[in-house]
Amino acid sequence: MNSSHLPKTLRLLLGDQLNEQHSWFQIQEDNVTYVLMEVRTETDYVKHHIQKICALFLSMRSFAERMKKAGNNVHYIRLSDPKNKGGFEANLLAMIDEEGFQRFEYQLPDEYRLDKALKTFCKQLNIAFKAVDSEHFFTKRSDLPDFFHGKKNYLMEFFYRDLRKRFNILMDGQQPFGGQWNFDQENRKKLPASDIPPEPLTFHNDANTVFAEIQQAGVAYIGQIDPLELEWPIDREQSLQLLQFFIDHLLEKFGTYEDAMSMKSWSVYHSRLSFALNCKMLSPAEVIDAAVTAFNQKPESISINQVEGFVRQILGWREFMRGVYWSKMPEFAQLNFFQHDRSLPGWFWNGKTNMNCLKHSINQSLSKAYAHHIQRLMVIGNFCLLAGIHPDNVDQWYLGIYIDAFEWVEITNTRGMSQFADGGIVGSKPYVSSAAYIHKMSDYCGTCHYKKDLKTGENSCPFNSFYWHFHHEHRSLLEKNPRIGMVYKTWDKMAEEKRMDMLQQAKHYLKNLEQL
Ligand code: FAD
Ligand code: SF4
Repeated sequence: MNSSHLPKTLRLLLGDQLNEQHSWFQIQEDNVTYVLMEVRTETDYVKHHIQKICALFLSMRSFAERMKKAGNNVHYIRLSDPKNKGGFEANLLAMIDEEGFQRFEYQLPDEYRLDKALKTFCKQLNIAFKAVDSEHFFTKRSDLPDFFHGKKNYLMEFFYRDLRKRFNILMDGQQPFGGQWNFDQENRKKLPASDIPPEPLTFHNDANTVFAEIQQAGVAYIGQIDPLELEWPIDREQSLQLLQFFIDHLLEKFGTYEDAMSMKSWSVYHSRLSFALNCKMLSPAEVIDAAVTAFNQKPESISINQVEGFVRQILGWREFMRGVYWSKMPEFAQLNFFQHDRSLPGWFWNGKTNMNCLKHSINQSLSKAYAHHIQRLMVIGNFCLLAGIHPDNVDQWYLGIYIDAFEWVEITNTRGMSQFADGGIVGSKPYVSSAAYIHKMSDYCGTCHYKKDLKTGENSCPFNSFYWHFHHEHRSLLEKNPRIGMVYKTWDKMAEEKRMDMLQQAKHYLKNLEQL
């Protein structure tokens, strides 16, 4: 299209805005240049997993190439580019100045930090500017606070039901398909010894060059990439293949084993689509559509509890968390309801602990940049909350280590759902458990150095005494919560000596976190 009469426009694309379906790309305009850049402000705001940095850069590079091939003007700034000034603002200003752009446009970022920075940047420009929607999510930033206006609490379930109706997903007229909104009682089973989940679909993306560039620039990172092949999808084709693999091989047991943990499989029946989704290589609507279509076509092999469980994660939790983020930031990032202040033990960075559940989940996080939801919530997060780790430290670790970690969905899950540092905005009670739950849902305890049934004494499982110590310490904050009252009834019924022994044991372990 000849657009010589139109203003020369610079459009910024962030690393998590790789949405080929965006209306920006539906026509090619000569007057428009897209810019993507690898900058130190992004590699360094937290220490990231090396696979996360490689995955983002490789995906951005591949996106830029595809956009170029499709006829767009694309300017790509590599980390190693001598003209790279290391931050969005400086690079943008240099381009606007040198190339005479008359207009600047960007897609609304998902992160508060970048949203603020880009607003500030635009205010100092003397050319026209505009922010447009990223066209990815089902909901707008303000939908959640609007929906709960005047209500004391946000409840995911009500928001989710409203979205099911609004977008007509798994509905039978005005009623939920299958007669229920929730099939949890059929889900969340332990993985039987006889069930071997399929080997996850992984890719062999060459990461030699990008890794060398990251190393040469001296970017600090955590975790490993070994061999120098990236298993994660880096373009739309690979993302679609991963989605198809999930539909063909995993969806049929997704709900049933959604809370199961097993040393036999690092992702069990989970989709591993979060990276592709969060970078917008896939849209949540197409992922849900693929799952619902498969359910409609093969109801004999994919039951409603599987597909509803999956839809709930994406339409429910993912949109809900984003809504909470935009309605509660920036205050959310400071919340510390329990005033926890301990540091993370050093073994969070090398997996060297005798607690088998943590050893397994942390080592997997270090080697794969991935742990599934229940490992994140009921093993690692559970430990951090019971051990009284400062939520800032927990956030930093989660934000750095996971391939899919972007603040809008990380902090709401970590500080909110997992650490209850928000005092109950995201969840109605803290997700904590003793060894009993971990044993019920996993095969970790059998070979552990610690004994799951012991509450005190040498080799007693730390989760057991921590669990009671946590409730004891925070009684004034938790006792009135109707969902927790029973815990205190049980605690009060225990013999005084047993309670004291348990608190003593927890204190001993807390003093020696590094040695656990
Ligand atoms: P599946 O189990 O296959 O689920 C399908 C999709 O549903 C996911 O890809 C994801 O997009 C969505 N989803 C599921 N649960 C949630 C949830 N609680 N919140 C938002 N979306 C959800 N998710 C992230 O994307 N980034 C994070 O940084 C992140 N940090 C987390 C930290 C903690 C402490 C906890 C408890 C959860 C966190 N989650 C995060 C949510 C969830 O654990 C991951 O989305 C999921 O493990 C990704 O793996 P998957 O794609 O195989 O998910
Ligand atoms: Fe984890 Fe305790 Fe089980 Fe060991 S015994 S795996 S520490 S829950």
